[in-house]
Amino acid sequence: MNFVILHSYNNYVEAHIAKGMLEESGITTWLQDENTITLDPILTNAVGGIKLFVSENDWAQAKNILNKIRAEQKEKWICPNCGSHNIEKVSTPKKASNWLSVLAGLFLIDYGIPIDKTLHCFKCGNEFSEPKED
Ligand SMILES: [Zn+2]
Repeated sequence: MNFVILHSYNNYVEAHIAKGMLEESGITTWLQDENTITLDPILTNAVGGIKLFVSENDWAQAKNILNKIRAEQKEKWICPNCGSHNIEKVSTPKKASNWLSVLAGLFLIDYGIPIDKTLHCFKCGNEFSEPKED
């Protein structure tokens, strides 16, 4: 069986949350370089992050699961300023393009792990920490 990279993560927690989600759905995953990075986070860039591998056959399904979880969370949030659903969790305010940080933020919220992140509304540009929910 061939394993292919589904995603790479900057930290252990994010990688394990994604792994857990996928394995709940019956997808076998495998993390590479997690020990290196956990021992020495400075090496993250050197080795290219913790890589989450899935079987070639599961790749499309795994990608769908990650996207779906993200979309479902997004549906629930409303910008308190303009009421738009076009909101993303961002780790660094004003830089909302990092898809990985957005996804990680969603996972961490789902698991009740406290994080210090900002929500960015793409419609009005508002940034806030507590979204309204439907
Ligand atoms: Zn807004």
